[in-house]
Amino acid sequence: MATAADVLTMIQDQDIKMIDLKFIDLPGIWQHLTVYRDQIDADSFTDGVPFDGSSIRGWKAINESDMAMVPDPDSAWIDPFMKEPTLSLVCTIKEPRTGELYERCPRAIAHKAVDYLKSTGIGDTAFFGPEAEFFVFDDVRFDQNEHSAYYYVDSVEGRWNTGRDEEGGNLGYKPRYKEGYFPVSPSDTLQDMRSEMLLTMASLGVPIEKHHHEVATGGQCELGFRFGELIQAADWLMIYKYCIKNVAKKYGKSVTFMPKPLFNDNGSGMHTHQSIWNGGQPTFAGDGYAGLSQTALWYIGGILKHAPALLAFTNPTTNSYKRLVPGFEAPVNLAYSQGNRSASVRIPLSGTNPKAKRLEFRCPDATSNPYLAFSAMLCAGIDGIKNQIDPGSPLDVDIYDLSPEDLAKIPSTPGSLLDALKALEADYEFLTAGGVFSEDFISNWIEYKLDNEVNPMRLRPHPYELSLYYDC
Ligand code: GLN
Ligand code: MG
Ligand code: MG
Ligand code: MG
Repeated sequence: MATAADVLTMIQDQDIKMIDLKFIDLPGIWQHLTVYRDQIDADSFTDGVPFDGSSIRGWKAINESDMAMVPDPDSAWIDPFMKEPTLSLVCTIKEPRTGELYERCPRAIAHKAVDYLKSTGIGDTAFFGPEAEFFVFDDVRFDQNEHSAYYYVDSVEGRWNTGRDEEGGNLGYKPRYKEGYFPVSPSDTLQDMRSEMLLTMASLGVPIEKHHHEVATGGQCELGFRFGELIQAADWLMIYKYCIKNVAKKYGKSVTFMPKPLFNDNGSGMHTHQSIWNGGQPTFAGDGYAGLSQTALWYIGGILKHAPALLAFTNPTTNSYKRLVPGFEAPVNLAYSQGNRSASVRIPLSGTNPKAKRLEFRCPDATSNPYLAFSAMLCAGIDGIKNQIDPGSPLDVDIYDLSPEDLAKIPSTPGSLLDALKALEADYEFLTAGGVFSEDFISNWIEYKLDNEVNPMRLRPHPYELSLYYDC
C-alpha cells in the first residue's frame, strides 16, 4: 500500500512536472484535470483538490457545483501518453462541505460495496476478472446501406466493409466470416499493436496475461489481465481501455468497446469472473454442482434472480441489447451451466485448485461503468447468499434439443435497455439493502439513461426503417 508520502517522494525523485487527476464519471469514462506539481501536498490526499462539478454528465447542478477529488496514492503511475513528465492519480469524489464521499461517485459506491460485503460476514474480499472485447477500425463512416448501420474500414484489409460475410472472391489472408479466432499472421495483422497495448498496461502495474484476436473478422480483439479485488479490478479495466485506445491512436486506428458495432457479426462482451474469499480462503469451492460451494450456488441464485435489473448496470446502453441475441456466443438464457456458453452464468473448468473456483457472468459488456457493474453484481450475489436463493437446475442440455415448451421455461435477458430500466425500477432493494446504492442514485440513473439514451434513440428514425418503409 502506497502512502501520500510515497507519492510526494516519487514526484521529487522522478522530477515529475504535472499531476493528472483522473476520476470516473457516471457513464464510466475517465475525466481529468491536470495541476502543476506544487498544487499537491499531503493534505490533497485527505481534503482533496477542488474542482467545478457542474458540467459533469449526470452530476451536480450549477448552483451546488463545488467538489473535491481525493487521489488514491495506490493508483500512481507515470502517464506514458503525455509528453511532459506527468504523474497520473485516480481519484474518488468528495463533498468539500461535509467531507463525505459524493453519493454519485461510482468509485465511492464501489468502496461501499466492499464495506457491505465485509459487514455481512460472508467474506472480506470480492475478486473480479473482466474480459473486455473490442473492435479495431481504421475509420467508421456513419453511412447506410440496407443491412448495416454503417460501413467501417476494416483494420485487416483496409477497405470499406459492412461486417457481413462477403460471398466468394479471394480473401487474401482476410479471416473468413466468424473465423477471426485465431489464425496466426499474416491473417492476424494486429499482433504487434496488441503486444504494445499489453506491455504498456504492464508498465503501469497491471498484471498482464495474454492477448488474441477474437471471432469477428473486422479486427475484433481481447487482451487479458489477472483478476483483482473489486476496486483494483475496476481501476485496471480503466487502464486497459485507456492503453488500448491510446496505443491504437498511435497506430492511426480507432477502437470501440460498443457491444454490437457490426450487424450480423459477433459482438463484444465483458464476461466477468467473480468469487468471494474470506480470511485468505476461497468460499466458492465445494462439493456441489461443478465443484461449487452452497455459497457460490446461492450467489448464482442472486445473480439470476436479479439479472433483468442488474443488466441496467452491466449492459447499460441501447446497443447492449443488439448483442444479447442468439447465434453469436452472447448469452440470452438466464441460467447457469458448466459448459454451455448460451447460459449467462458459466462455471469455468478450473482443475482441482479450489482457489481457482469462480463463476463467469457472461452478460456484461464494456459500455458498463465497471465500479457500478461490479458493485451491482456483488450486491445481487450477496442477496442470493443472505436469502439462500436456489439457482434451480443447471442448463446442461443442448438448447437446440429442447422442445418449444421447455425452451419457453428458461427466462431470457431483457430485450432492450428500456426493459432493463423498468426491471430496475421494480427490483432495486438488493442494491440499496447495504447502503451501497442510494434510492436517489438509482432514480437518477434511470432518468439519465431514459433522457440521454433511450428516448433520443426512440425519437430518431432508424436508417433501416428507411429501407423497410420508404417505399410503402
Ligand atoms: N464475443 C462473445 C460475446 O459477445 C464472446 C466470445 C468469447 O470470448 N467466447 O460475449
Ligand atoms: Mg477471454
Ligand atoms: Mg472473448
Ligand atoms: Mg469468457
